[in-house]
Amino acid sequence: MSESESQPKKRFPLTLDFVTGLSGRSKAAAKTTHGTQTATRNATERTHAPRAVQAPVVASKQQRQVSTVDSGGGALLVSEAVRKAMVRRIAQQGVKDAAVLSAMESVPRHYFLEPGLASQAYVDTALPIGYHQTISKPSIVARMIELMREGVDGKLLRVLEIGTGCGYQAAVLAQVAHEVYSIERMRPLHELARSNLRALCIPNLRLHYGDGMLGLPQCGPFDGIILAAAGLDVPQALLDQMALGGRLIAPVGERAQRLKLVIRTKPNEWVADLLEPCHFVPMRPGTFG
Ligand code: SAH
Repeated sequence: MSESESQPKKRFPLTLDFVTGLSGRSKAAAKTTHGTQTATRNATERTHAPRAVQAPVVASKQQRQVSTVDSGGGALLVSEAVRKAMVRRIAQQGVKDAAVLSAMESVPRHYFLEPGLASQAYVDTALPIGYHQTISKPSIVARMIELMREGVDGKLLRVLEIGTGCGYQAAVLAQVAHEVYSIERMRPLHELARSNLRALCIPNLRLHYGDGMLGLPQCGPFDGIILAAAGLDVPQALLDQMALGGRLIAPVGERAQRLKLVIRTKPNEWVADLLEPCHFVPMRPGTFG
């Protein structure tokens, strides 16, 4: 769990500078902000340049928790207090699962956005990540994970996410499951997620580049599957990779989308329920880049 922002600098959580040895770079450079960027440029900058907001790191690998220290301009908008306020609003909207709320509190969403958008990280809205794709709205991330976890005590064993995007939801999932696999079809976004997640050192998360409509049969069966992009329906390959009793949650439909919850009740039986309206980017076949 995150510590207060008022912690002295040498205490945990450590800054990314400490971990990567970039501490020699000037503070002025570290405060540089950028205008509109593509995800690719953003990913490149993350490899070669210091960040405008300090990066979070895992306080303790055993705990698998993500923490952050905020500093510099815009700190108030990306502080732990603001993140907690976002989680309170999500709870007020009806999400009750304490494990989900705690996971949302521990993952710094601002770290998955380009510096120019970081100040909006804790507003409940989807934001662009490049390539006409978005980071999902925090409340829908929480809602879908809660639906997937319903009836589960403790952590889920194995979870699959289709549509890694910038990697935010995958990081949240990694707090509530023992093993998380996430697939992205666009190579630049797969690389962006890798870059975003590298410093977080999340040991139970594996990213794959490929067509998520095919799933990852070599890693299944999965107790939970979450789709972060909308198709007309759920691909049969994903239904086949669900464990018995496993739960899949997906946005389905074209313009008017709804969340669909599917539970595998028997080897050859799935029950499905259409839930509330939602709005996601479309699921596309094949790979790009
Ligand atoms: N999980 C993200 C949201 C991602 S947006 C978050 O953390 O907020 C949806 C993503 O799904 C996009 O990056 C898009 O490229 C990807 N996508 C669409 N169709 C896909 C497919 N068939 N396989 C894998 N990824 C796909």
